[in-house]
Amino acid sequence: VGDSKDYDSEVESVCAFCGVGCQISIKVKDGKVKYVEGINGPANEGRLCVKGRFGYDYIHHQHRLTKPLIRREVAPEKGLNVNPDNWQEFFREASWDEALDFAAGGLKGRGREVAGFGSAKCTNEEAYLFQKFIRQGFGHNNVDHCTRLCHASSVAALIENVGSGAVTATFNEIENADVAIAIGCNPIENHPVAATYFKQFTKRGGKLIVMDPRGVGLRRFATHMLQFRPGADVSMLNAIMHTIVEEGLYDQQYIDAYTENWEAEKAHLADFAPEKMEDICGIPAETLRQVARDFAAAKSGMIFWGMGVSQHIHGTDNSRCLISLALMCGQVGRPGTGLHPLRGQNNVQGASDAGLIPMFLPDYQTVTDDGVRSAFTDVWGTGDFSNEKGLTVTEIMDAVHDDQIKAMYILGENPAMSDPDVEHARDALAKLDHLVVQDIFITETANYADVILPASALYEKSGTVSNTNRQVQMLRPAVPPPGEAKEDWLIEVELAKRCGLNWTYTHPSEVFAEMAINMRSLDNITWERLENTAVTYPSLSPEDPGQAVVFGDGFPRPEGRARFTPASVIAPDDPPDAEYPMVLTTGRQLEHWHTGSMTRRATVLDAVEPEANCSMHPSTLRKLGVEPGDHVRLTTKRGSIEIMARADRAIAPDMVFLPFAYVEAAANILTNPAVDPYGKIPEFKFSAVKVEAAEQG
Ligand code: SF4
Repeated sequence: VGDSKDYDSEVESVCAFCGVGCQISIKVKDGKVKYVEGINGPANEGRLCVKGRFGYDYIHHQHRLTKPLIRREVAPEKGLNVNPDNWQEFFREASWDEALDFAAGGLKGRGREVAGFGSAKCTNEEAYLFQKFIRQGFGHNNVDHCTRLCHASSVAALIENVGSGAVTATFNEIENADVAIAIGCNPIENHPVAATYFKQFTKRGGKLIVMDPRGVGLRRFATHMLQFRPGADVSMLNAIMHTIVEEGLYDQQYIDAYTENWEAEKAHLADFAPEKMEDICGIPAETLRQVARDFAAAKSGMIFWGMGVSQHIHGTDNSRCLISLALMCGQVGRPGTGLHPLRGQNNVQGASDAGLIPMFLPDYQTVTDDGVRSAFTDVWGTGDFSNEKGLTVTEIMDAVHDDQIKAMYILGENPAMSDPDVEHARDALAKLDHLVVQDIFITETANYADVILPASALYEKSGTVSNTNRQVQMLRPAVPPPGEAKEDWLIEVELAKRCGLNWTYTHPSEVFAEMAINMRSLDNITWERLENTAVTYPSLSPEDPGQAVVFGDGFPRPEGRARFTPASVIAPDDPPDAEYPMVLTTGRQLEHWHTGSMTRRATVLDAVEPEANCSMHPSTLRKLGVEPGDHVRLTTKRGSIEIMARADRAIAPDMVFLPFAYVEAAANILTNPAVDPYGKIPEFKFSAVKVEAAEQG
């Protein structure tokens, strides 16, 4: 890190990676980002993790797309890896006019044959435009993004039972809590700056209860570490709630005032005595009882969760349990209380809020409601679009295989790496007769593209993003996109015009103003305000910085009441057996982010963590006869990969942890496509797997 003489200009913006939303100062020298520092944003107070501080130089990587590309008429088959140094064999350069005409020509007039994946890496305005493009341009709701792969089940449970899909309290509220539960999340690696607030909380005496099948890093700060059996979340949480009921520890006054369906929940929990559940979840009954007593006795308690909760076929049930646990203890709506699913990508909250999902328009207003649709078409000045919920990410790939969808527009997503059972998705992409990919690199998905539109990285963008805390923040461009690449919103506008839409936007602020017409969450939040400060929604007046804690006086549900929805035990879809005796779970690691397209091209991050790896308990490696650093073969019912193995005592002996950022050993070749019936999220956290020693190279 240099001093103030080291740069020509500095620009304040927001980190490109996780949902914490740290504010950054980008220092520019000779037209390039020289370094990045943390500044005093509401979510980070000057702090940054290794990704935010050192992960920026991918934007200057030699493989950045700088011109539109069109697939050659005579080219190798779709899906073959395009060598980024020798792409000319597959594609030819085109002018923007030719590329946009070609892109639009394969989409226009095709109605339901078209589907779109937008991106949580884009701004709120770009997400809003993307969903509008599909709905207004093609008359249906087949538009989705990676929320389907991360917290869709959490959102389903929150909307069902609390009436809102966002957090009820910022993570910073842990400062006001005395007990916190962190379940199915690994903030030290995945939300590192949020984790610093968790650690401070424990240093001042807060009780932190960590629950996860992996012994995640937060265990060192925990009063209880419940390393439960994978997939046994509902059994464990119901046993904890059983204790609260049995010992009369619930908050009857709160339940009477603010909830419904309590008697049904209470009756349902009768079957879940800790002594019956301890063998199922692997946690002693007395520990379950003590955790129940600690949480119920909290003056202020919070519950945080991550994808260990959501990425199951019972992900919605897992979240229902967490919501019920908070409600029965009256731990929502006051300082230091609340429900907080830690969001993964930098703008997955904002992209979902902006309607980039097949069942909801902006602000989670349902597409099945005629009044809601006409409120949008009035603003859009266009006819109606379908009142049927659209298809989700994995359903769209199935529909391609079924010949219902034949053309796609994919902006900033990488389903050829991120979808479960990824060969199924890759086959679907190869089958499309027209694929438009808009991205900053030739991603694995772009290997299947007919046309590639060169887009902008976050450090090159204007717009707003919304973090896990509901804080809306302003992005500002520090450097221009390289070559002829453009900001994503501009490309969307040009493509929309060529598809016959009368779009006249000249700046993202005009898009934001349109969004605010039908999004009550943006009341009192204007572009001009955001140029000066972050605002947490809801903001109750033009001066209100926003509400860190919501629902202190009731919930946005009928009669203002939250709901208890009892959850029964549903076994994982792909249980271990004699042939596949272990459990595979996938996730992220500190230095790499999602499918790796950015962080693996960031010099420092790739130097720290350069090689694909999986982790197992040392005793498991000994049984296999392999040393740490040797290669193993992982095989599931979907496929097989070979990968370097590491020893990690925090992993249970019957489990394998596999990061999904490495294309050379793509985790999703192995994962199970079975989905949760409500959130339609795949079960990335549980697949039966066989592990063998590989031939060592
Ligand atoms: Fe960026 Fe998240 Fe790290 Fe903050 S915690 S610097 S938002 S990756």
